[in-house]
Amino acid sequence: MYSASIFLNDLCNYKCIYCYRHIGKGEIEKSKVFNILDHLRKMNFSKISFAGGEPTLVSWNVFEAIEYAKKLDFTTELITNGTNKINFDYLDILTIDIDSLKENMNEKLGKSKKHFIRSEKIIDEALEKEVKVKINTVVSKINIEDIEEIAYWIKTKNIYRWKVFQYLPSIGIAKMNKNKLEISKKEFHEKIKRIKEIIKDWNGQFIYEDNDYMSGGYASIDPKGHFYVSVKKDGEYKTIDIGDVLDYDIEKFLSNKYINKEVFLKRSKINYMYFNSEEI
Ligand code: SF4
Repeated sequence: MYSASIFLNDLCNYKCIYCYRHIGKGEIEKSKVFNILDHLRKMNFSKISFAGGEPTLVSWNVFEAIEYAKKLDFTTELITNGTNKINFDYLDILTIDIDSLKENMNEKLGKSKKHFIRSEKIIDEALEKEVKVKINTVVSKINIEDIEEIAYWIKTKNIYRWKVFQYLPSIGIAKMNKNKLEISKKEFHEKIKRIKEIIKDWNGQFIYEDNDYMSGGYASIDPKGHFYVSVKKDGEYKTIDIGDVLDYDIEKFLSNKYINKEVFLKRSKINYMYFNSEEI
């Protein structure tokens, strides 16, 4: 019933200025991913998100890992920038970042200047294949004025979930660009209030997470196969490696001092109830 994300590599063909990828950690081996999936299943995880870097850029075939996860009965999600061919066969959810509908803003943020138009095509393809589509949006100082336009667009699409994050200066490139991108919790929540008004008649799930909510609430796995958490320490966000996934059982994970058990369980429950008709 729990949800995890595995960040397979540190490579990407975009240069997003808010990027959280684990530069310097390379790429996880395919056999290790399979072992981790077996282990997570034993820990009662039932949803797995494959992320990166750009996960389709691993040197092996990421879709084989997605197929393996599906055979283990995971709900499968791919978080991609949409620049490579997608095999939708064993995928339940396709997730793409849309931070602006304006291609000049996408370019400014480090994406391609065809990002939005390309993403729309992939979204339509996914929907045709009955794969659910999720949109992630990172709100920073640069694109905060573009978020309302995304809200109007979301209403025109059959998107199942829109997840909006406050930019988090936790690691790597994201941390380096703190001065350029940081917004306050107050600014973030004022924007969320406006978005809620726009999408009040929309049927999809709207989820938003400020920096405090994000910290410690995820089961995130880095390209070394280690769980890690982003926590606020001495006013700064830090990414802490809490050890090899294979050394954990679920009790040990839930009792780790850096894990926000309440938020982790709440998030897992929302996912589980959506993808499984039974109550938990
Ligand atoms: S945020 Fe995602 S798409 Fe952008 S550079 Fe980082 S890994 Fe690539």
